[in-house]
Amino acid sequence: MQERLELLFETFLKVRSVAKVMREFNDRGLELPRRDRHGDLHWTRATTSAVAAILKNPAYAGAFVYGRTRLRKPSDGRSPTKAPKPIEQWRIIVKDRYPAYIAWQSYEKIRGIVSDNRAEYMRNKTRGAPREGELLLQGIAWCGRCGHKMYARYKGGAEYVCNHLRSHQGLPACQYIRAHRVDAAVAQAFLTALAPAEIDALSCARRAQQQTYKAIRSNAEQQLERRRYESALAERQFNRVDPDNRLVAAELERRWEEALKEVRAAEEALARFESPQAIAQITVGNKALNDKVVRLSGRLPAIWTDPSTTDAKRKALLRCLIDKVILDRGEHDVVRVRIVWRGGAVTEIEVKMRVNSAASLTQGAEMRERVLKLARTKMHDDEIAAMLTNEGHRSPNCPDKVLPITVQRIRLHAGLKGLTEQRTRWRHSPDLLSAQELAGVLNIPVNWLYVQIRQGRLLIDRHSSGAHLFSNTSHVIEAVRKLHNHEFDHLDLRITEPHEEGHSHG
Ligand SMILES: [Zn+2]
Repeated sequence: MQERLELLFETFLKVRSVAKVMREFNDRGLELPRRDRHGDLHWTRATTSAVAAILKNPAYAGAFVYGRTRLRKPSDGRSPTKAPKPIEQWRIIVKDRYPAYIAWQSYEKIRGIVSDNRAEYMRNKTRGAPREGELLLQGIAWCGRCGHKMYARYKGGAEYVCNHLRSHQGLPACQYIRAHRVDAAVAQAFLTALAPAEIDALSCARRAQQQTYKAIRSNAEQQLERRRYESALAERQFNRVDPDNRLVAAELERRWEEALKEVRAAEEALARFESPQAIAQITVGNKALNDKVVRLSGRLPAIWTDPSTTDAKRKALLRCLIDKVILDRGEHDVVRVRIVWRGGAVTEIEVKMRVNSAASLTQGAEMRERVLKLARTKMHDDEIAAMLTNEGHRSPNCPDKVLPITVQRIRLHAGLKGLTEQRTRWRHSPDLLSAQELAGVLNIPVNWLYVQIRQGRLLIDRHSSGAHLFSNTSHVIEAVRKLHNHEFDHLDLRITEPHEEGHSHG
């Protein structure tokens, strides 16, 4: 134990940082001795707090010290906490009290380095108020895995990083989350929450909340009044009793005391309603903020996107309503985002992230299977892409659709050749329309056409290239429009049956 502690001091004087000592000990598999509260010795993995506690303990320099900490009473009425005092304010120092592991001068030097490091760390950590270009959630992003604060990193693309386990315990970093989409999704949720309709609902909820509060409060007031009356009655009864009748007097005295206790309990209950916490809860963001927000809400989307609005202002606006945002990267391509609003309400959203390959997508395997199956039916890459988009799939680098290039990659990777005509497929004769072109003419989504084709409501031959081609004639265009308007419930455009027919099956 003594050797290990000596090594710890030596290492620190060499590397001059608690975190580096922690890492060096963990890398070499060296544990630290700790005594639990029963005084039993345990060997545990080095953490920054354990290393710092040993480095700062004057007993290892042989000194007995009294008064290293003082009690600090927080102003908000919570229980007091211990705060360290600077070394020159320690009340009693008896040097050479224990066998020393390090000289007192080394001890003072170590304390100096630790406090310099800390000052530097605080300077870096608190460097300025929100700056331009900084990420929206900087300072309010928390790790959904370990519960620590995440920091924003700008090196090689902005991201939120949870580094706590790595920097304090030498374990692998918890999670890295690319910032761009998460920021956009939270901003969206924020603007949605502030839409005028939502604000109305919020004001209604607040009014209801206030009414409930008033009702409960007046109940508590009545309760107190009743208790005071009962207590006064008990007092009068006690005063009127013949003091010689001791049994009765004792009983009445007991009742009076009971009544007084009840009064005190009722007073306390009422006082809780008037505590700053209770009032804060009912009025949080309510008066000034709510009024401002109502006035702003209609203009907010415009203000938010205005180029003259600074990032710092956006962050400040966001913090008016959002306490913190908890991020948790799932197994694959989805980040779960929990927005904790002021007042405690929670919104949960899922953000789809860019990933490196289709295999990293949640539905990657399923999509690959679909691509290969459709490619074997000689369908075009862009048709497959449109169809899969419609089925809810997406490309790794695209949040809401499947790109033909993704289809092509999957296909080629599986060794499936594309159609030879693929490069020239749009050079079809002008009396034919591709699905894309027909959709353009009718001003309808092309996906709708593919859905009709897949579900057999629209029957059409395939061109030798594999593409679906429509005759560029007014009656074909008109017929498809009618299908779209639900005037037909299916349409057969196959060349083997040259006339389109609308069947009604009721
Ligand atoms: Zn974490």
